Amino acid sequence: MRISKNNSSVGTKMNFFIDHELIFLGTGGGRVHSSTQHRKTGGIIYVFNSKQVHIDPGPGAIVYLNKMKIDRFKTKWVIVTHNHTDHQNDVPIIVESMHKSLSIPIGTLISTQDYILSLNVYYRNLLTEIIPFMAGKSVQLDTHTLLQATKVDHGSTEGFGLIFYQQDPAGLSKSYQIGFTSDTEIYNEFGETYKNLDILVANVLRPSNKVCRHHACVDELIPALKDAKPKVCVLTHFGALFDSPDSTEDLIGDQVKYMQKSIGGATKIIAAEDGMHLYLKDLMNV
Ligand SMILES: [Zn+2]
Ligand SMILES: [Zn+2]
Repeated sequence: MRISKNNSSVGTKMNFFIDHELIFLGTGGGRVHSSTQHRKTGGIIYVFNSKQVHIDPGPGAIVYLNKMKIDRFKTKWVIVTHNHTDHQNDVPIIVESMHKSLSIPIGTLISTQDYILSLNVYYRNLLTEIIPFMAGKSVQLDTHTLLQATKVDHGSTEGFGLIFYQQDPAGLSKSYQIGFTSDTEIYNEFGETYKNLDILVANVLRPSNKVCRHHACVDELIPALKDAKPKVCVLTHFGALFDSPDSTEDLIGDQVKYMQKSIGGATKIIAAEDGMHLYLKDLMNV
């Protein structure tokens, strides 16, 4: 195990973009969905260039990874954006599951300093590399993929959002940028931070104007998206006020329509669903 500031490895020039996809092992956020799994909380698998990163493997991640028959040995990076249960609960078993043999360290953990220090040293020693991350830092994941950490405002919790810069080796035509807001309230520079991305995956905990401190609700996200203008915004990390195990109501469809109407045609709004595969070339119509 090595803790370092930089990481680089050799990528592939073949099949760039063909396998790029997002797989949602969960679209629920917060205590109620974590406890009930009414919406799953396994995080997001982002596949690119025959490898994958597991972002925020919360409760149930290992169960849904197996149920969806995702190749656990393809996971090269585990990213934990902050030290909350719905983002990190399954990290130990995900790290173990990446190994065919425990005698050889494998994989990289990218997370906040406080989460890294909280992880049992047994799991830390299973990893090839551990990268402490915070807003403003970046790391080259492979030849064509640069990862940058963005600011979050999640109360006193240490955390970061993400932007992946994917560089098409054959030219700029298929290069793209995808961001993940993680849990954050909308801060002043939010629009500037995620300006003109191709895809933004936005955590939205509550519908309409139901404000929750240190998180984003729909009415707060709308002006932020008008400012940032991503081509596509994928909503996820829905809290129990969207659809709860105690209610037959599901507000997500209506909230997407409301957001789309408010924002206009500049940004396409999509709600993620548990188990959904999003093929990025389809999403961007290339
Ligand atoms: Zn959360
Ligand atoms: Zn959180």
